[in-house]
Amino acid sequence: MLNGSPPYKGGGVKRRYIMKIKCLSCGHDFELDRSYAEYNGQVKCNTCGTLLSVKIEDGMVKSSEIVALSKRVAGEEAQAGK
Ligand SMILES: [Zn+2]
Repeated sequence: MLNGSPPYKGGGVKRRYIMKIKCLSCGHDFELDRSYAEYNGQVKCNTCGTLLSVKIEDGMVKSSEIVALSKRVAGEEAQAGK
């Protein structure tokens, strides 16, 4: 019979492909699914709408930076400044 168990060391801890990205603007974590395990591009924060540029390799976030702050925040600042 086939043995379907891969020879992982470490007691059956399954590798996760959900990455958590911390938004650099509002500080909230948001998740990216396994389709982003290899990704280099922009993602949008679900909470504040800020656009982040991220680089993800092998399921690890290598870098992230703000591309554009959310328009809502920018608009509020503009109004507050009169
Ligand atoms: Zn955010």
